[in-house]
Amino acid sequence: MQSIGRPTQPADTIGVGAPATVLGHRGLDHEEALIFELGASGRCGVDLDTPAPVASRLGPHARKAPVGLPGLSEPQVVRHYVRLSRRNYAIDMGLYPLGSCTMKHNPRLNEKMARLPGFADLHPLAPMSTVQGAFALMDELARWLTTLTGMPGVALSPKAGAHGELCGLMAIRAAHEASGQAGVRKRVLVPESAHGTNPATAAFCGYEVDPIPANAEGRVDLAAFMARLGPDVAAVMLTNPNTCGLFERDIVAIAEAAHGAGAYLYCDGANFNAIVGRVRPGDLGIDAMHINLHKTFSTPHGGGGPGSGPVVLSAALAPFAPVPFLVREGDGFRLVEEAAAGAAPFGRMAAFHGQMGMFVRALAYMMSHGADGLRQVAEDAVLNANYVLASLKDVMTAPFEGPCMHEALFDDGFLKDTGVSTLDFAKAMIDEGFHPMTMYFPLVVHGALLIEPTETESRETLDDFIRVLRTLVARATSGDTAHFAAAPVLAPRRRLDETLAARRPVLRWRPPALDKAAE
Ligand SMILES: *Cc1c(COP(=O)(O)O)cnc(C)c1O
Repeated sequence: MQSIGRPTQPADTIGVGAPATVLGHRGLDHEEALIFELGASGRCGVDLDTPAPVASRLGPHARKAPVGLPGLSEPQVVRHYVRLSRRNYAIDMGLYPLGSCTMKHNPRLNEKMARLPGFADLHPLAPMSTVQGAFALMDELARWLTTLTGMPGVALSPKAGAHGELCGLMAIRAAHEASGQAGVRKRVLVPESAHGTNPATAAFCGYEVDPIPANAEGRVDLAAFMARLGPDVAAVMLTNPNTCGLFERDIVAIAEAAHGAGAYLYCDGANFNAIVGRVRPGDLGIDAMHINLHKTFSTPHGGGGPGSGPVVLSAALAPFAPVPFLVREGDGFRLVEEAAAGAAPFGRMAAFHGQMGMFVRALAYMMSHGADGLRQVAEDAVLNANYVLASLKDVMTAPFEGPCMHEALFDDGFLKDTGVSTLDFAKAMIDEGFHPMTMYFPLVVHGALLIEPTETESRETLDDFIRVLRTLVARATSGDTAHFAAAPVLAPRRRLDETLAARRPVLRWRPPALDKAAE
C-alpha cells in the first residue's frame, strides 16, 4: 500500500522551469498534506473537561490503541480547508464548459432562499401541520414542472438524474405489470449516443438493452429504430436534444411508433436547458422524463454535491408514481405515504420526500426568471453554443453539419497526424486557465470534445475561450507536440494515473508505522 507522505515536491510538480522550493510551496499557493499528516495526534483544538470515569461495558471490544485522530489547533484546521478549497475549481471561478453537465451560474438569490431557517432547519419527520409552507413550495415547484413540460404527473423524490431514470422505468414496468404484459416486454431500446446511465438503468431494472445506431446526421436512425420495435419492447429511452447537441426531429414519429407497439417513451431530460420554455415534452408524446433540477434550474452541482431529479409522467404513467406524493386537503396539503384510491404506486424511491434545498433553489430560479426568462435561458444557451461552434469550426472538425442546440460537438479529426490526442489537448487547456470540456463522450464520435457554454457566460469569456482554443489548435498543427505531452505544467498536480486511481483506489490513510507493519 502506498502512503502519501508529507510533500517534498520534486520540481516536476512545481512547473517546468520553476525553482524547487524548500516546502514545495509555489509562491503564496501552499502545498498541502493530508490532515492526518499535519499537527500531531494526541493534541486537541478545544479545551474539554476531563470526563468522569465510567464503567466500560465494551468488554473485549474496547479499543486497545489510540484512535489516531488528527490533532490540530483551530487555526491549523481553518487553514487546511481554506488551502484545499483554493485547489477546487468551481463555476464561481471560471468557465466550466463540460458538455451535458449544464454548469451554469447559481444565482445568490437561490442560496439566500435555501438558507431561510423555515426551509433549512426543517426535519423530514416534523408533523405535517408544522411544514405546510414547505409543502406549498413543493406543490408550486410541481406546478411549474408540469406546466413547463405539459405532463400531468410528477414524482419529486428522486435524488438525481440517474435516480429519476430508475423511477421512470419502474413506473413503466409497473404499468406493464398492471396490463399483464411485464412477462413479455423484456427489451429497452437505447440509442448508441445515450449517456451511460440510460443503459445502466435499463439493465438495473432487469431489461435487455438493445442499442439503436445513429445515422450520418448524428440522430436516431429511424429505419433501424422501426426495425427494432416489437411486442417484446417495454420502452424506448431517448435523449432530446441528444448528447450530440442535436434535436431529434423524428421524435413525434418515434413516440407514435413506440405507442403503436405498446411501449412507452422515456426521455432523458438532462438537456432540457436547450428547450425549456420553447418545447413541451408532453406535446412530443413523451411518457416519462427526468429533469435534473441541478442542471436546467441552476442549484450547485459537481464535486458530488446534492442533485435532484424529479420525473414528470404522462396520464398513462401518473397513477404509478412512487410514494410519497402531495395531495391538497382542505386548506393545506398532506404527504401520502401509502397507496391511495386511484393510484397504484410502484413503491418508494427514497426515505423521505426528496431534496428540499434543491427544490427551494430551483423554484427561486424559476420564479426570478419568470416564464419569459426561462424561454430566454434556452434561446441564449443555444445562441452561445452556436457562437462557439461557428467561431471554431474552421480550425476544429465538427462531425455533423449545421447548427447545434445547447452544446457544440467536435471530433479529433483536426488533431490527425499531430501526435496530440483529445486528452493532451484538454490538459493544455488547464495551463491556459480553462477547465476542459467533456472528452470522449458521446462515444459515437471519435475523440469527442463536447462544449456546453450555457446561457450565463458573457461574450468576453467566450471570446477568451475561443482565442485560447484557436491558439492551441495552431500549436498542435504546427508540430509542437512536446507542449501537449507535458501539459499541464502550471497546475498543482501534473497528470494523474487515472487508471491506477480507479483500479486500486487508496481510500484509507494509515499511519506510516502501520503501513510498514502491513508490508
Ligand atoms: C447528467 C446526465 C445524466 C445523469 O444525471 P445525474 O443527475 O448526474 O444522475 C443522464 N443523462 C444525461 C444526458 C446527463 O447529461
